[in-house]
Amino acid sequence: MAGSKHHFAAGEQIFSEGDPPTAAYVIDQGRVEVYTHHGGTRLVLNYLGPGDLLGEMAVIDREPRSASARAVGSCVLTEIREDQIQERIAQTDPIVRLLVQALLKRYRTGLRAVRDRGIPLPEPMSDAQESAPVMDKFRLEAELMDAIGNDELTVVFQPIFDCTRDAVVGFESLTRWTHPKRGIISPAEFIALAEETSLILPVGQYALTKSCETLAQLHDQVPAEISERLWVSVNVSARQSVLPDFVSLIISVIERFGLAARHFKVEITESLTLDFERVSVMMANCKEAGIGVSLDDFGTGHANLSRLHMLEFDTVKLDQSFVRQMVDNQRCAELVRGIINMVRALGAEIIAEGVETLDQAKLLRDSGCRYLQGYLIGKPMAADELLPVLKAKGIFDR
Ligand code: C2E
Ligand code: CA
Ligand code: CA
Repeated sequence: MAGSKHHFAAGEQIFSEGDPPTAAYVIDQGRVEVYTHHGGTRLVLNYLGPGDLLGEMAVIDREPRSASARAVGSCVLTEIREDQIQERIAQTDPIVRLLVQALLKRYRTGLRAVRDRGIPLPEPMSDAQESAPVMDKFRLEAELMDAIGNDELTVVFQPIFDCTRDAVVGFESLTRWTHPKRGIISPAEFIALAEETSLILPVGQYALTKSCETLAQLHDQVPAEISERLWVSVNVSARQSVLPDFVSLIISVIERFGLAARHFKVEITESLTLDFERVSVMMANCKEAGIGVSLDDFGTGHANLSRLHMLEFDTVKLDQSFVRQMVDNQRCAELVRGIINMVRALGAEIIAEGVETLDQAKLLRDSGCRYLQGYLIGKPMAADELLPVLKAKGIFDR
């Protein structure tokens, strides 16, 4: 694989003492010798193997390499870019950051003593077993970075049904990653990972572009009365949504595909509104630009109802946990009715998620829920499968 994977032949130098620190590495295969010099002789500091992290110290404190590293046998390393590490450090508790700096300083002092007196370091530098999950995460992150360039990401679309029109009127775009070795990785896993770094920005940009491209193609394939009401809804993450030029970025993509803002919605998860000030400004900006806003995963734990009235949204997505329970649980059904009434009183509509049965659909419709989304209407599908769904008859007549 190109990009983050690097191969080294036996004896090949990975980096040398004094080099500027451009990256760290996770060792995928092979053994690496870390060494320095004492007088004229080479002094081995450590041997590292699969799962170990190499060269991270210099990257963390942005100092020249304090030791050299070379491949013992042939090696495969995953490169961890400097910004991947620096972003993590910037996000940590300032006290932890200080402790890390202190540890590094001690390590460097120890290393100087080693070099001056020729005494080997007493402790091994890493514990591969304990750090394995962290290394896997770093590796996956580096692979995700490659995935964007290697066309491993795709976007699928799930239809949204309008009970008042008895037709599909919109789609939610959901991103998929087909990993060359692991197969399909759930967005729940890789979006969360991408959100920890600025990787979410290219991933989000990709979803945005693909969504507009698909909607524009559909608009060309259906009669005007259908295309007029057809919209696409795109999930956005915290990092994306608080970019100062977020709304103009969306507008520029919408316009590039000849679409109008009213055909586009952003989905913002309720938990995001924890950063209330910034998110509420962004939502107001969307409204002003004519872009729809959906409040996602509503009612799953982060809602601050006392401030709900201050947010500009036009749809609320009712989490599938409500939909699943309401048919058999009277109290849950009452709660859902209450939510629907509250949301409608605020001038917004409800999209119920995870609708799998006709009973659920009927109960939701009869409770005043306007939009339905879920396997009953259709699973997330490729762009070229969408056209028949638009022409299909309403679910209640089946
Ligand atoms: P979400 O926004 O709540 O999306 C709905 C999830 O429910 C999707 O999972 C969808 O496939 C699944 N689903 C839809 N109908 C049914 C149903 O009838 N039954 C059941 N059991 N599940 C149903 P998916 O595609 O795995 O996405 C997971 C989450 O990943 C999404 O949750 C969303 O938060 C996030 N995500 C996906 N694509 C993107 C993206 O491009 N950007 C961002 N920021 N987040 C994304
Ligand atoms: Ca969503
Ligand atoms: Ca949701």
